[in-house]
Amino acid sequence: MITKEEKERLLQWDRAHINHPFYPFSKKLRGIIFERGEGARLWDTDGKEYIDFCSHLQCVNLGYGQTELVKAGAEQMQKLPYSTTFWGYSHMPVIECSQKLAQVMPKGLDHFIYTCGGSESVEVAFMVARRYWNNKGKSKYKIISLYNGYHGVSLGAISATAIAKNVMQQGIAPLLPGILQAPNYNCYRCQLGHEYPQCSIKCAKYLEEMIKWESPDTVAAIIVEPCQAAGGFICPPPEYLPLVREICTKHNVLLISDEVATGFCRTGKIWGVDNFNVVPDMITLAKGITSAYFPLGAVAIDKEIWNSFEDSSTPGDFTYSGHPVGCAIAVKAMDIYIKERIAQHVTEVSKHLWKRLEEEFLPLPCVGRTGGLGFFGGIEIVADKATKRMLDPKLNIMARIQAEALEKGLYIRTSSGLFTQGDRVPVDPPLVITQEQVNKGLDILYSILAIIRPD
Ligand code: PLP
Repeated sequence: MITKEEKERLLQWDRAHINHPFYPFSKKLRGIIFERGEGARLWDTDGKEYIDFCSHLQCVNLGYGQTELVKAGAEQMQKLPYSTTFWGYSHMPVIECSQKLAQVMPKGLDHFIYTCGGSESVEVAFMVARRYWNNKGKSKYKIISLYNGYHGVSLGAISATAIAKNVMQQGIAPLLPGILQAPNYNCYRCQLGHEYPQCSIKCAKYLEEMIKWESPDTVAAIIVEPCQAAGGFICPPPEYLPLVREICTKHNVLLISDEVATGFCRTGKIWGVDNFNVVPDMITLAKGITSAYFPLGAVAIDKEIWNSFEDSSTPGDFTYSGHPVGCAIAVKAMDIYIKERIAQHVTEVSKHLWKRLEEEFLPLPCVGRTGGLGFFGGIEIVADKATKRMLDPKLNIMARIQAEALEKGLYIRTSSGLFTQGDRVPVDPPLVITQEQVNKGLDILYSILAIIRPD
């Protein structure tokens, strides 16, 4: 705990010196300095307790204060804090981590390139896709991503990120050439104006049309999130990903599944694609791989792509590729995901979560829809349920919901329809959250949403 005056001084210094992503310089900070956590609970420097309903950035999958992860990291730091994987050197944690990953990856995706996070994983996947086709003597370089998708912020990744383009991409053009966007799979706000299921999944078929018009000889890969995260925690209809897989195979286009947010049991299955029985050609990973206890990412790639590199090596040569501390923590994290049956816990507790949301929240005047997979989904706030019209942006409703939730001890993130598709309250707590904590969080949220009256 620190005094009020000391806290104020620290916050003033912070505001003047530290960049806060997605938060304008002109805005006053929130006045919260987080200090510690335990399971799905957080405390700030005033000693105030919060239930975490967003795993910070959907990354602290195994919750706070996980001593086994801390121990694994500390022991590795003591033993060998750093060792490179460049030039043919190796170390135990990177081998063990890769072996553990290979055991849980979809069939065939058992070759790994290590990075320091999600954006780097996406960046590497793009380079691998282009190099793969180049290795095969083809100049396929175009990459298709989806509107409302988020793939990170390094220059290649941000070129595929398609939420709030006017803000995210402002002043940094030209972006990476050859990255194109297609409509996404949000049935509630279909960008093609169709209704599910009569649509026969036109959004997937649009991709095929796009490949044909761009020419399959030029399209290297399609990148999708199995469920869109930063775009508002939106999942596709069940037919979507299998159809996209079929289209990619038919036209010799690689399918990259960006599992940075959906991976490691978040959706109740180890991988988001497991919900749809789809095996992509590459999977990008980060966040849950260490449960955010260390910045680590990876790209899992298929043997056929791997083998095309023959006597070279793949792109992805970072000083910290396969960092021993990150890998040691990842090994322990994977043990915990399996040993503690985290996917089953998510499936069980989330059933209760979605039932309460459907039975109690959906009837509220401001709630347009609820739903998701496992601990990946959300609540859509609308002014008019019939037309799905959003509340007047001048009401600043999402910021108000978030501020009130924090006040009442619930830490949530919100997605504003000004930047993504619809005003949404994502629900993506640490995967170890208990049913009792879920209920407590929902009670707080209900007390806030129940009094919102459509304008
Ligand atoms: N891809 C997805 C699906 C993400 O959700 C994110 C981050 O939220 C990223 C990529 C970028 O990851 P990072 O912030 O670790 O660079």
